[in-house]
Amino acid sequence: MSQRPFSDRFCAPHGGQWHLRDIDPAETDGLHGKKKVRKEIKQYAQRMRELQYLLYAEGKHSLLIVLQAMDAGGKDGTIRHVLGYMNPQGCHVAPFKVPTDEEKAHDFLWRVHPHAPGRGRVSIFNRSHYEDVLVVRVHDLVPEAQWRRRYDRINDFERLLADNGTTILKFFLHISPQEQLRRFRKRLENPAKQWKISEADYSERRYWDQYQAAYEDAIARCNTKHAPWFIIPADHKWFRNLAVSRIVVETLEGLNMALPPPSVDIDEIRCKYLAELDQAREPDRQ
Ligand code: AMP
Ligand code: MG
Repeated sequence: MSQRPFSDRFCAPHGGQWHLRDIDPAETDGLHGKKKVRKEIKQYAQRMRELQYLLYAEGKHSLLIVLQAMDAGGKDGTIRHVLGYMNPQGCHVAPFKVPTDEEKAHDFLWRVHPHAPGRGRVSIFNRSHYEDVLVVRVHDLVPEAQWRRRYDRINDFERLLADNGTTILKFFLHISPQEQLRRFRKRLENPAKQWKISEADYSERRYWDQYQAAYEDAIARCNTKHAPWFIIPADHKWFRNLAVSRIVVETLEGLNMALPPPSVDIDEIRCKYLAELDQAREPDRQ
């Protein structure tokens, strides 16, 4: 296995010309098969849970995880299988759908900011403010000059969150069009998944290239040090889960968090508690 941190391996390119089509969505970093890495994924997920406990207890940092992907790219699966290990008490999942009339009447970040994590907390965005330079761009929902200005606004917004102690990780779950079609077919065949199918899923496939171009621009323009983008090969769900959990663990480890010292004098509490316990025992002794 590669010794380089996953966070470096899958960080989106900084500068230069690059295309998503040149990044293999089926890559597995030399690892073979789900069975062998199942244990490893579980270990990372458990470590992630311990680190989230520290984050919560320490109350200094917060973590924002942004998940973006083409339809059937695995956002829901990543939340269920990886991020679902987090303690729900300190974790908030925010899905972003077609904006309501009220949301449309405001600036595009108005609906997003309230979901940013407070200190000690984790927020997971299932889609995000990036939709406003993705679907909005592909379907000309606002004039080009308007969505073009949004890259700067997004960088400013993410800078604001980072300055306030939020660590930001943005994952693009990268699948091939063939894998998307396989997943759509499975949804059609599996009654438990049929509710997920929408006509739009199929019609949006026609815009595959436009979406990929929009993703390339969004990733390139908003791949900052304080809010990096990761391009996760996601045709293999097990590899996607491993990569996301490893990057989250590596990042949280890097915060060097520690349990805070107790806010009270433990010896004093213990003495008091023991004295009370002894008192409570008195009747038994008589
Ligand atoms: P899903 O995530 O499958 O439930 O679908 C949510 C839908 O909402 C997707 O088709 C997104 O493209 C769409 N959506 C999310 N944010 C926006 C936005 N800002 N403008 C237009 N459509 C959006
Ligand atoms: Mg969908």
